[in-house]
Amino acid sequence: MIKAVVFDADETLLDLRPAIDYALDQVLDSLRSLQPDLVPSREQMRDAWREVFAEDPAAPVPLIRRESMRRTLARCGLEQHLEHHYELFFHHRYAQTRPFPDAVATLAELRASYLLGYATNGSSTADRCGLGGEFAFELYAHQGGLPKKPAPEFFAAVVAATGVQPEEIVYVGDNYHHDVEAPAAAGMRTVWVNRGGDELPGPVVPDLVVERLAQLPDGLGRLAA
Ligand SMILES: [Mg+2]
Repeated sequence: MIKAVVFDADETLLDLRPAIDYALDQVLDSLRSLQPDLVPSREQMRDAWREVFAEDPAAPVPLIRRESMRRTLARCGLEQHLEHHYELFFHHRYAQTRPFPDAVATLAELRASYLLGYATNGSSTADRCGLGGEFAFELYAHQGGLPKKPAPEFFAAVVAATGVQPEEIVYVGDNYHHDVEAPAAAGMRTVWVNRGGDELPGPVVPDLVVERLAQLPDGLGRLAA
Protein backbone atom coordinates (compact mmCIF):
# COMPACT_ATOMS: atom_id res chain seq x y z
CA MET A 1 0.00 0.00 0.00
CA ILE A 2 1.33 3.44 -0.90
CA LYS A 3 1.28 5.88 2.01
CA ALA A 4 3.71 8.61 0.97
CA VAL A 5 4.61 10.31 -2.31
CA VAL A 6 7.91 12.20 -2.30
CA PHE A 7 8.91 14.57 -5.08
CA ASP A 8 12.11 15.76 -6.63
CA ALA A 9 11.91 19.52 -7.25
CA ASP A 10 13.76 20.85 -10.31
CA GLU A 11 12.28 19.75 -13.64
CA THR A 12 9.83 17.49 -11.80
CA LEU A 13 7.51 19.96 -10.05
CA LEU A 14 9.38 23.13 -11.05
CA ASP A 15 9.85 24.43 -14.58
CA LEU A 16 13.42 25.50 -13.89
CA ARG A 17 14.89 25.97 -17.38
CA PRO A 18 13.07 29.22 -18.28
CA ALA A 19 14.05 30.69 -14.91
CA ILE A 20 17.73 29.80 -15.42
CA ASP A 21 17.70 31.21 -18.94
CA TYR A 22 16.02 34.42 -17.79
CA ALA A 23 18.45 34.84 -14.89
CA LEU A 24 21.47 34.23 -17.13
CA ASP A 25 20.14 36.79 -19.61
CA GLN A 26 19.82 39.36 -16.83
CA VAL A 27 23.42 38.68 -15.81
CA LEU A 28 24.62 38.96 -19.41
CA ASP A 29 22.70 42.22 -19.96
CA SER A 30 24.31 43.68 -16.87
CA LEU A 31 27.79 42.53 -17.94
CA ARG A 32 27.20 43.99 -21.39
CA SER A 33 26.57 47.39 -19.82
CA LEU A 34 30.00 47.15 -18.16
CA GLN A 35 32.05 45.78 -21.02
CA PRO A 36 30.10 45.45 -24.27
CA ASP A 37 32.79 43.66 -26.29
CA LEU A 38 33.85 40.85 -23.97
CA VAL A 39 30.63 39.47 -22.60
CA PRO A 40 30.33 35.66 -22.50
CA SER A 41 27.46 33.94 -24.25
CA ARG A 42 24.67 32.11 -22.47
CA GLU A 43 26.17 28.89 -23.87
CA GLN A 44 29.58 29.68 -22.37
CA MET A 45 27.89 30.17 -19.00
CA ARG A 46 26.15 26.83 -19.38
CA ASP A 47 29.36 25.08 -20.46
CA ALA A 48 31.17 26.43 -17.40
CA TRP A 49 28.37 25.12 -15.16
CA ARG A 50 28.69 21.65 -16.70
CA GLU A 51 32.50 21.79 -16.33
CA VAL A 52 32.32 22.65 -12.62
CA PHE A 53 29.50 20.17 -11.97
CA ALA A 54 31.51 17.38 -13.60
CA GLU A 55 34.47 18.11 -11.32
CA ASP A 56 32.39 17.55 -8.17
CA PRO A 57 28.76 16.54 -8.70
CA ALA A 58 28.29 16.24 -4.92
CA ALA A 59 28.99 19.94 -4.30
CA PRO A 60 26.17 22.27 -3.22
CA VAL A 61 24.35 23.72 -6.23
CA PRO A 62 24.92 27.41 -5.30
CA LEU A 63 28.67 26.74 -5.03
CA ILE A 64 28.66 25.14 -8.48
CA ARG A 65 26.87 28.20 -9.86
CA ARG A 66 29.26 30.56 -8.11
CA GLU A 67 32.43 28.82 -9.31
CA SER A 68 31.12 28.47 -12.86
CA MET A 69 30.23 32.16 -12.92
CA ARG A 70 33.64 33.08 -11.45
CA ARG A 71 35.43 31.16 -14.20
CA THR A 72 33.31 32.66 -16.96
CA LEU A 73 33.79 36.20 -15.66
CA ALA A 74 37.53 35.63 -15.11
CA ARG A 75 37.91 34.53 -18.74
CA CYS A 76 36.42 37.89 -19.77
CA GLY A 77 38.41 39.96 -17.26
CA LEU A 78 35.28 40.68 -15.24
CA GLU A 79 35.94 38.64 -12.09
CA GLN A 80 35.71 41.71 -9.85
CA HIS A 81 32.00 41.84 -10.71
CA LEU A 82 31.30 38.29 -9.50
CA GLU A 83 29.55 39.09 -6.22
CA HIS A 84 26.96 41.44 -7.68
CA HIS A 85 26.15 39.12 -10.57
CA TYR A 86 25.96 36.03 -8.40
CA GLU A 87 23.33 37.82 -6.30
CA LEU A 88 21.59 39.09 -9.43
CA PHE A 89 21.42 35.57 -10.86
CA PHE A 90 19.81 34.05 -7.78
CA HIS A 91 17.40 36.95 -7.35
CA HIS A 92 15.96 36.35 -10.82
CA ARG A 93 16.32 32.57 -10.70
CA TYR A 94 14.07 32.39 -7.61
CA ALA A 95 11.71 35.11 -8.76
CA GLN A 96 11.09 33.25 -12.03
CA THR A 97 11.02 29.61 -10.87
CA ARG A 98 7.45 28.39 -10.88
CA PRO A 99 5.69 25.02 -10.76
CA PHE A 100 4.61 23.34 -13.97
CA PRO A 101 1.00 24.30 -14.77
CA ASP A 102 -0.46 21.00 -13.52
CA ALA A 103 1.67 20.74 -10.35
CA VAL A 104 -0.41 22.46 -7.68
CA ALA A 105 -3.71 20.88 -8.73
CA THR A 106 -2.06 17.44 -8.83
CA LEU A 107 -0.60 17.91 -5.36
CA ALA A 108 -4.01 18.93 -4.04
CA GLU A 109 -5.56 15.79 -5.46
CA LEU A 110 -2.82 13.51 -4.14
CA ARG A 111 -2.91 15.07 -0.69
CA ALA A 112 -6.31 13.52 -0.06
CA SER A 113 -4.75 10.03 -0.22
CA TYR A 114 -1.04 10.32 0.56
CA LEU A 115 1.49 12.05 2.75
CA LEU A 116 3.40 14.39 0.42
CA GLY A 117 7.12 15.18 0.71
CA TYR A 118 9.68 17.30 -1.14
CA ALA A 119 13.29 16.11 -1.31
CA THR A 120 15.82 17.84 -3.54
CA ASN A 121 19.51 18.12 -4.33
CA GLY A 122 19.00 21.68 -5.43
CA SER A 123 18.42 25.08 -3.91
CA SER A 124 14.79 25.47 -5.01
CA THR A 125 13.19 26.00 -1.62
CA ALA A 126 9.48 25.30 -1.85
CA ASP A 127 8.42 28.65 -0.41
CA ARG A 128 10.53 30.66 -2.89
CA CYS A 129 9.29 28.69 -5.89
CA GLY A 130 5.52 28.76 -5.54
CA LEU A 131 5.15 25.56 -3.47
CA GLY A 132 5.14 26.89 0.10
CA GLY A 133 2.90 24.91 2.46
CA GLU A 134 2.32 22.08 -0.03
CA PHE A 135 4.29 19.36 1.78
CA ALA A 136 4.33 17.51 5.10
CA PHE A 137 8.12 17.72 5.00
CA GLU A 138 10.92 19.22 2.91
CA LEU A 139 14.44 17.80 2.68
CA TYR A 140 17.35 19.67 1.12
CA ALA A 141 20.77 18.18 0.40
CA HIS A 142 23.54 19.92 2.37
CA GLN A 143 21.19 20.94 5.17
CA GLY A 144 22.16 19.16 8.36
CA GLY A 145 24.97 17.38 6.51
CA LEU A 146 22.62 15.49 4.20
CA PRO A 147 24.55 14.29 1.12
CA LYS A 148 23.09 14.72 -2.36
CA LYS A 149 21.24 12.06 -4.31
CA PRO A 150 22.11 9.37 -5.27
CA ALA A 151 23.65 8.80 -1.79
CA PRO A 152 21.78 6.12 0.19
CA GLU A 153 21.82 8.46 3.21
CA PHE A 154 19.59 10.88 1.29
CA PHE A 155 16.92 8.22 0.85
CA ALA A 156 17.30 7.00 4.44
CA ALA A 157 16.43 10.56 5.45
CA VAL A 158 13.38 10.44 3.17
CA VAL A 159 12.20 7.22 4.84
CA ALA A 160 12.74 8.72 8.30
CA ALA A 161 10.81 11.88 7.35
CA THR A 162 7.80 9.91 6.13
CA GLY A 163 7.62 7.64 9.15
CA VAL A 164 6.54 4.72 6.93
CA GLN A 165 8.33 1.75 5.35
CA PRO A 166 10.37 2.21 2.15
CA GLU A 167 8.00 0.01 0.15
CA GLU A 168 5.12 2.31 1.17
CA ILE A 169 6.86 5.30 -0.44
CA VAL A 170 6.79 6.38 -4.09
CA TYR A 171 9.60 8.65 -5.21
CA VAL A 172 8.76 10.85 -8.21
CA GLY A 173 11.39 12.54 -10.36
CA ASP A 174 12.77 13.39 -13.79
CA ASN A 175 16.36 12.21 -13.32
CA TYR A 176 16.52 8.47 -13.98
CA HIS A 177 19.70 7.87 -11.98
CA HIS A 178 18.77 10.04 -8.99
CA ASP A 179 15.02 9.54 -8.93
CA VAL A 180 14.53 5.96 -10.16
CA GLU A 181 17.69 3.88 -9.71
CA ALA A 182 18.69 5.31 -6.33
CA PRO A 183 15.30 5.23 -4.56
CA ALA A 184 14.58 1.79 -6.04
CA ALA A 185 17.85 0.59 -4.49
CA ALA A 186 16.56 1.98 -1.19
CA GLY A 187 13.43 -0.17 -1.51
CA MET A 188 11.00 2.51 -2.69
CA ARG A 189 8.64 2.44 -5.60
CA THR A 190 9.41 4.95 -8.32
CA VAL A 191 7.77 7.18 -10.90
CA TRP A 192 9.90 8.52 -13.75
CA VAL A 193 8.68 11.87 -15.07
CA ASN A 194 9.71 11.59 -18.71
CA ARG A 195 8.39 14.70 -20.44
CA GLY A 196 10.59 14.17 -23.47
CA GLY A 197 9.50 10.60 -24.18
CA ASP A 198 13.10 9.38 -23.80
CA GLU A 199 14.21 5.76 -23.91
CA LEU A 200 14.72 4.15 -20.52
CA PRO A 201 18.43 4.85 -19.85
CA GLY A 202 19.14 1.85 -17.60
CA PRO A 203 18.02 -1.58 -16.46
CA VAL A 204 15.92 -0.51 -13.46
CA VAL A 205 12.31 -0.25 -14.59
CA PRO A 206 10.24 2.41 -12.82
CA ASP A 207 6.87 1.34 -11.42
CA LEU A 208 5.23 4.09 -13.46
CA VAL A 209 6.28 6.48 -16.22
CA VAL A 210 4.37 9.73 -16.77
CA GLU A 211 4.80 12.55 -19.24
CA ARG A 212 2.69 14.97 -17.19
CA LEU A 213 2.12 15.36 -13.45
CA ALA A 214 -1.63 15.28 -14.02
CA GLN A 215 -1.26 11.56 -14.87
CA LEU A 216 -0.09 10.79 -11.32
CA PRO A 217 -3.37 10.41 -9.40
CA ASP A 218 -4.76 7.75 -11.76
CA GLY A 219 -1.37 6.11 -12.24
CA LEU A 220 -0.65 5.84 -8.53
CA GLY A 221 -4.18 4.59 -7.94
CA ARG A 222 -3.52 1.74 -10.35
CA LEU A 223 -0.20 0.95 -8.64
CA ALA A 224 -1.83 0.83 -5.25
CA ALA A 225 -4.62 -1.47 -6.41
MG1 LIG B 1 15.08 17.03 -11.14
